[in-house]
Amino acid sequence: MSNVSTNSTGSTSSRTRGRVVGVPRRCWCGERIVALISKSDPNPYRRYYHCGFAVSNRLRNDDHTFKWDDEASVNEIDTLTTKNVEFEKHLKYFRKERLEFEKIVYEKMENEIFETIEDALSKAKTSNRKMMVILAILCMIMIGCSKLLG
Ligand SMILES: [Zn+2]
Repeated sequence: MSNVSTNSTGSTSSRTRGRVVGVPRRCWCGERIVALISKSDPNPYRRYYHCGFAVSNRLRNDDHTFKWDDEASVNEIDTLTTKNVEFEKHLKYFRKERLEFEKIVYEKMENEIFETIEDALSKAKTSNRKMMVILAILCMIMIGCSKLLG
């Protein structure tokens, strides 16, 4: 039973103690992150973020969250760049989608126009035939009448 609980806490902490991307907001231990300026010889006046608990207890080489400000900024820019690239990809996809959609709409409109023209033409043909029949009948009547009169 105790084995299971240590296993589970071990796995959760390894997950939350992973590398932080961008500016850290809170340490895995729940403590707030504080922004400080380094006074060490290799990194003079270099800004960094560190877990408030580790700072107040003057912990060194601990596994509480620590991050240089310049590295965090680079991360943030990287994230923005990737987001921008993703956005561009989406935009391209949407443009393509829109073009395809417009093509479909135009094709449909064209088909409908052709269909209505064909419809109108066929209707005109039948009405022309009717007119021809009526004219023929009228002619016959007129011929008949003239024969009767003559
Ligand atoms: Zn911490």
